[in-house]
Amino acid sequence: NYNSRTTAIGNNEIGGLGRTFNTMADSLAEIEQNRRNFLANVSHELKTPVTSIQALSETILDGLAPKPEQQQRYIATILQESQRLDRLISDLLDLSQLEADELSILCEKLDLQTWLVTEATKIETLLNPKHLTLETDIPEQLPYVWCDPIRLEQVFTNLLTNAIRYSPENSTITIHLSVTKHQVAISVIDQGPGISPDDVPYIWDRFYRADKSRARTYGGTGLGLAITKKLVHAMQGEISVDSHVGKGSTFTFTLPIIK
Ligand code: ADP
Repeated sequence: NYNSRTTAIGNNEIGGLGRTFNTMADSLAEIEQNRRNFLANVSHELKTPVTSIQALSETILDGLAPKPEQQQRYIATILQESQRLDRLISDLLDLSQLEADELSILCEKLDLQTWLVTEATKIETLLNPKHLTLETDIPEQLPYVWCDPIRLEQVFTNLLTNAIRYSPENSTITIHLSVTKHQVAISVIDQGPGISPDDVPYIWDRFYRADKSRARTYGGTGLGLAITKKLVHAMQGEISVDSHVGKGSTFTFTLPIIK
């Protein structure tokens, strides 16, 4: 009858509202937990280099490293740790601006051919210290793309420095470009350790490191891929990884073509 039907609908509605409310409360709790984790991570990442800078400076000032070569080594480490802090702070600024949609992305029509030629010299210098070989697989005719050249540079450099960082000496890094109707796909391929399928979904998260103990000594901030992904999205592209443990990783991002 009519009454019991309305009651039934009413109950359903209340049940539905209750569930929506619970889901909202759960996501709020999750956001709050994420915020706390992020702050804890930031504090930890900032504190580690600062602690080391303090300890090394005190050792020198207290006269506990009297030999000039010892002092040189300590000062070199102080410099390295300051550079690390600098990178971390720039990355954090970029990330916070990206998350607030406040990072200026100024897209323009870019000639990929010319861009690649200027990149080439830079790539060579980056590869030299580890005796890495560069291979390229690039079509002869390249289209114009729509992107912010400064941000493209940042994306490409992040992927390339990761590839270099995780590559064994004397291995090969390949830059592969493919063109489809609406977009260009740029891949950076390395012969490094690869990333396990369990880690792959998380590598885009802030401060996630697949190999926690090793990654820090490699000098990364753990923010590179989080920033890279957001930058690619801000330029209307996509980014993905195809990785095989023990074989290597291929990071690919796309950019829209413009006529
Ligand atoms: P990091 O500064 O630690 O490199 P990223 O955000 O750039 O931070 O990368 C996150 C994690 O993804 C790294 O710590 C590493 O575990 C993994 N990773 C990224 N690029 C590669 C790669 N080319 N080969 C193997 N692992 C990688």
